[in-house]
Amino acid sequence: MPAEDTNEPQKRAFLGIWFECCHTYGRLYKNASGTAYVGRCPKCLRPVHVRIGGEGTNRRFFRGS
Ligand SMILES: [Zn+2]
Repeated sequence: MPAEDTNEPQKRAFLGIWFECCHTYGRLYKNASGTAYVGRCPKCLRPVHVRIGGEGTNRRFFRGS
């Protein structure tokens, strides 16, 4: 995977996530306001929402709960 500069405004930062519901890997993308990473499990389409700010924002991987 090529390195991406997430500071570039045209690109959307993403967060790698492990979906425990289906044991699969996917990505969450920042929402428009930049307050959270949002997305869906690629298999069961369960919505996932990870807030940005406070604890845990530096993690590249997040386990859906
Ligand atoms: Zn799932």
